[in-house]
Amino acid sequence: MDDMRVIVIGAGVGGLTLAQGLRQAGIDVAVFEQDAEDARPQGVSLHLDDRGSSALGACLPPANLAMAEATLGGLRTGIQALSEVDGVLTAAPRDHPDRPTGPARPGRMTDRPILRAVLLTGLEDVVRFGVAFSRFEPQADGSVRVWFTDGTVETADVLVGADGVGSSVRGQLLPDVRVSDTGKRMLIGASPLRAVAASGLAAMIGDNPATAQVRGTMMVCSVMRFGEPPIAARDRWLPTLRSRVVDDAEDYVMWALPTTQAVLGTEGGREAGWRAARSVAAELHPTLRSLIDEAWPARTVTLRVGMIQPLPALPSGSVTILGDAVRVGPGFGANLAMQDAGRLRDALVRVVAGEDDLAGALSTYVAALRPDAPPAETVPSRQLIGSRAAEPGR
Ligand SMILES: Cc1cc2nc3c(=O)[nH]c(=O)nc-3n(C[C@H](O)[C@H](O)[C@H](O)COP(=O)(O)OP(=O)(O)OC[C@H]3O[C@@H](n4cnc5c(N)ncnc54)[C@H](O)[C@@H]3O)c2cc1C
Repeated sequence: MDDMRVIVIGAGVGGLTLAQGLRQAGIDVAVFEQDAEDARPQGVSLHLDDRGSSALGACLPPANLAMAEATLGGLRTGIQALSEVDGVLTAAPRDHPDRPTGPARPGRMTDRPILRAVLLTGLEDVVRFGVAFSRFEPQADGSVRVWFTDGTVETADVLVGADGVGSSVRGQLLPDVRVSDTGKRMLIGASPLRAVAASGLAAMIGDNPATAQVRGTMMVCSVMRFGEPPIAARDRWLPTLRSRVVDDAEDYVMWALPTTQAVLGTEGGREAGWRAARSVAAELHPTLRSLIDEAWPARTVTLRVGMIQPLPALPSGSVTILGDAVRVGPGFGANLAMQDAGRLRDALVRVVAGEDDLAGALSTYVAALRPDAPPAETVPSRQLIGSRAAEPGR
């Protein structure tokens, strides 16, 4: 296939990573996003591990990649446990029974709004905001027609649902799959590092995330120290980045408080999430409480935690899905979404190069989505998170 056209539904991390990768490969791509460009708070930060890092390395143009890399936080190799002993908050020793031993993958923290701005840069003529997908119809010639809620109808060779956990594309493809609301919520916010530095907490936890379970309340916190000040990084690496998110960016401490909808109740309005966080954290150690008190109220987001049943086999055809539309990866879903995007891009590039047909390439991609699929090869030469790891003092 010489000329391929791909339509991506959803401008989240997965959809944008795919669009960047396809554009890099010279494949015609259009992204449709239901929200307006600045409609939603984009959250605070995410832990970028080898899976997301490899995909970004393969999909982003060099300037975007350099900007993403320059603004990463320090290397994270494990999780620490904080505990309160006689009123003093301390990092638990290695053999402490409270110390989490989960399979944390090494990585670095990335600021979500900056990552999104980096992903959007260069796609200004590719992403259409404020246009929601409505339905698709496979055509006899193998192409797919796509309807949007504004009345637009488009045709493509491939339709990709990168439209998140509540995916409408998956809804039409696999109508029996159910998504449930667990009732769990996560309050996530950030506090300027300069405002909380005096407590000594940031120095105590370093670059690794820390969890505290004090008097029945759990909190996770992590320090974001930008490798290079974002505004300087933008000027140096990616001056075409037009978003204002870098202008006020400064080092911060990110915090997250698991809670439930029942606890949150129905209070809405501006800063409701921040007020709820203050109330949920009321029993925590004063140093942890001060993180919430000093936070930027408007940056606090309340995230709904959904659950999606394991998918049956995807029907063959020109429509596929990626990221949260496939499964919810607790705490690492963005990395899986980017990994899917990298693999799908590779599959479509093989088709354009004449090395595979579309049906074969899409079924190889879908096979890799299975939880028991063997790990795919990574692209070590362009892994973001590893590249600064060897620098002294980091
Ligand atoms: C509390 C919490 C913390 C997390 N922390 C991390 C972390 O540290 N590391 C990590 O890797 N992951 C983390 N995740 C997961 C991560 O946020 C998601 O897995 C990731 O955003 C999924 O990317 P996606 O591109 O598949 O979907 P999304 O980012 O959800 O993007 C989907 C997009 O599709 C759009 N859309 C939906 N329907 C339509 C439609 N009909 N038409 C057009 N557009 C549509 C939406 O508006 C949205 O922009 C966390 C998640 C939660 C809840």
